[in-house]
Amino acid sequence: MDEDRPVLTQITENVLVRQSDFCRTNTVIVRGDAGVLLIDPGIHGYELAALADELIEHGDTVTVGFSTHPHWDHLLWHARLGSATRYGTARCAATAQAKLDVGREMATQTAQDVSLDLFGAIVALAPGTEYIPWDGPRVRIVEHQAHAPGHAALLIEDDRVLVAGDMVSDVLIPMLDLRGGHHPVQDYLDGLRRLEDVASHADLVMPGHGSVGSGDELRGRIEQDRAYVVALQAGDDPVDARVGPGATYGRDWLPAVHARQVRDLAARMAADPRIGFGEQHRNI
Ligand SMILES: [Zn+2]
Repeated sequence: MDEDRPVLTQITENVLVRQSDFCRTNTVIVRGDAGVLLIDPGIHGYELAALADELIEHGDTVTVGFSTHPHWDHLLWHARLGSATRYGTARCAATAQAKLDVGREMATQTAQDVSLDLFGAIVALAPGTEYIPWDGPRVRIVEHQAHAPGHAALLIEDDRVLVAGDMVSDVLIPMLDLRGGHHPVQDYLDGLRRLEDVASHADLVMPGHGSVGSGDELRGRIEQDRAYVVALQAGDDPVDARVGPGATYGRDWLPAVHARQVRDLAARMAADPRIGFGEQHRNI
């Protein structure tokens, strides 16, 4: 089984990554002075256990965890990773708590041999917290409401790595928060703007799902995501290579997600045209 085991890959001085067998989910580890920060631990039980093994081999202990957003695939944990505080933004923690049963059910359907006892136990950071409270490199919190409530990208400042959460993927299209969000389109565009604001501080981007990218690729992916969302906003069916005939990933399921999103947003905008726009347009 060892040969199947994903390995940690060091991408900068303090940052290591590994990818899950599920949906190219990325886990990021930041080395600190007394231990590591573990961001979005992974999916399957055997992966989380292997991660714990690797950390032990390296002499690392997890001193703090972080979930980028309150979707099930970012809320898992394993007892062998220890009892570190697992942070999220206040909205992330509140949403994870409110949707604990739904998240557990989704995890049960997909994640293999995983204990759900520790699922979703996220501690809220005070609203407006700028940096992860820990003994290690400065990690800036870039919160927005795209894709999920309280979604946070993390900028590891000295290493110039942006951990983007579930945006700016090379393989997944933007997925709007069509269930919970009041302004899912504008929230997404605002989120992209937040990433754009910090993009000049990043030489590498690590999306929640997909491949690591350069700073230039980050800027290109922001534009690609924005073009997709702007087309949705205009009521068009976006043309996007990630769900086009040349797509290299998710050909058996992603086009259906895309089609459902186009249809659901069109229906919501037909019922309430303000859905496609932000607060500032509410009264027109
Ligand atoms: Zn995800």
